[in-house]
Amino acid sequence: MRNEGIGSWPGRRARKTPHRTALIHQQQTFSYADLHQRTNRLAHALRAAGVRRGDRVAYLGPNHPSFLETLFATGLLGAVFVPLNTRLAAPEIGYQLADSGARTLIHDPSLYDPTDNGGGSQGDGGASPAEVSPAVKHRIELGDPYEQVLAAAPDNPIDEPVGPDDICMIMYTSGTTGRAKGAMLTHGNLTWNAINVLIDQDITADEVALVSAPLFHTAGLNMITLPVLLKGGTCVLVGAFDPAGTLDLIERHRITFMFGVPAMFDQIARQARWAEADLSSVRQLTCGGAPVPTPLIATYQSRGLNFQQGYGMTEAAPGTLFLAAEHAVSKAGSAGVPHFFTDVRVTGPDLSPVAVGEPGEIVVRGPNVMPGYWGLPEETAAAFADGWFRSGDIARVDEDGFVTIVDRLKDMIISGGENVYPAEVEDVLLGHPAIVECAVIGVPDEKWGEVPRAVVVAQEGSRLDPDEVIAFLSGRLAKYKIPKSVVVAETLPRTASGKLLKSRVRARFGAGPQSGTTER
Ligand code: ATP
Repeated sequence: MRNEGIGSWPGRRARKTPHRTALIHQQQTFSYADLHQRTNRLAHALRAAGVRRGDRVAYLGPNHPSFLETLFATGLLGAVFVPLNTRLAAPEIGYQLADSGARTLIHDPSLYDPTDNGGGSQGDGGASPAEVSPAVKHRIELGDPYEQVLAAAPDNPIDEPVGPDDICMIMYTSGTTGRAKGAMLTHGNLTWNAINVLIDQDITADEVALVSAPLFHTAGLNMITLPVLLKGGTCVLVGAFDPAGTLDLIERHRITFMFGVPAMFDQIARQARWAEADLSSVRQLTCGGAPVPTPLIATYQSRGLNFQQGYGMTEAAPGTLFLAAEHAVSKAGSAGVPHFFTDVRVTGPDLSPVAVGEPGEIVVRGPNVMPGYWGLPEETAAAFADGWFRSGDIARVDEDGFVTIVDRLKDMIISGGENVYPAEVEDVLLGHPAIVECAVIGVPDEKWGEVPRAVVVAQEGSRLDPDEVIAFLSGRLAKYKIPKSVVVAETLPRTASGKLLKSRVRARFGAGPQSGTTER
């Protein structure tokens, strides 16, 4: 067998378009020939260090060409890439290293210190990753040591057989519903997802994509970077997202395409330069990874931008639903229809499709869906029903087949027998001019069992009055959906990718008065 995995992509691209620009990072530019050469050299170096087919190689660092070089180099060897979230605390990194059994780690020296005895560079006071995962035997530090490794490696081609069903990477889920699980993604999963994106988003070789969503999360890598590189376009890699800097980068590089989670797009639109920035090069923006508030969609569409919604999950590599440009206005708020090669159903408990307009759970199947969680056969079995992956998300389908995400099953509040979907209430709250962030959670109530509570963050310079917030919701939502209490908070806990950590919101703001109207 030949290498049919994604590790072969840089070589195939170098054969076709060696001189086109693959990556831009700060002042550096890498052609496809450069990317191929560097990837192949890294694969030689990893092999010389003992990395073999199936071995896990972890990467801990911000968006940088070396991230993609490590992904492709492990793919060339049939080894398994394990990207780690740079914003995790040291014990969490240690857990993922130990869980994946990675013996090789390529890392930013500021993020992992093997001599650190607790406290860690992550500063959370816990054990250092090195203590938690003593299995790491071989490390390459990014920067000069990494460049020296590449410079010393040979250029002869690596020719390992790799097939579509071989595991390409173990990607940990965000962990918003508990401990992060390692989704095993095959070369086939990633390839089919990229093909879905190429088809549904009309990616061209002239694409100049801004990659400021983290590559260690599925969307930044799979919904933008890999499809653009497969097609031969250019990716501008940004190490740390900066909303004001994003507008500058769009102008400087004439960016055509960007993916972001809602929190990123929200911050960009709040920049002073937003109204006059030159965004004429932008062909499409994709927003997803978390509920997309309708006021945000309106903000971007009123600027004349093609603002599309995507819905997916790590386990589906991740593209599942997509709202294409032609429907972005008429079906605004919907996450669209399934990607070309992917099937989606909105189902009742017995897996049969629910009626139009009724809420049900999204289940997914297709060539992009993972074979299972790493080392978790029971969780894997529980996640699938009859070949369908159960997303744990609730949605409704309209008469044209467009799916609108309602909420996560686990976040649903049952108040006096009525289902309250926090995302719906949050969407209305975000229409309040002084609310910049919010979260709705359920709190125990003697009469209703559970009632909604809103936790809101005021726009800088504004003051929020809980009574006034409740008054704002009256008439806009059914009475049982209106929070019985409002807490004004400074910030809300979010993951590295900007996702709300509802479990932490509940832990921090779920206690306190059981009833009553408002509190601060
Ligand atoms: P964990 O599974 O560890 O709890 P997670 O589910 O957040 O973490 P991801 O795979 O990063 O891990 O996220 C997938 C989830 O993100 C989806 O199941 C869904 O709840 C949410 N999501 C993604 N896109 C959208 C969207 N467009 N609208 C609403 N929710 C979305």
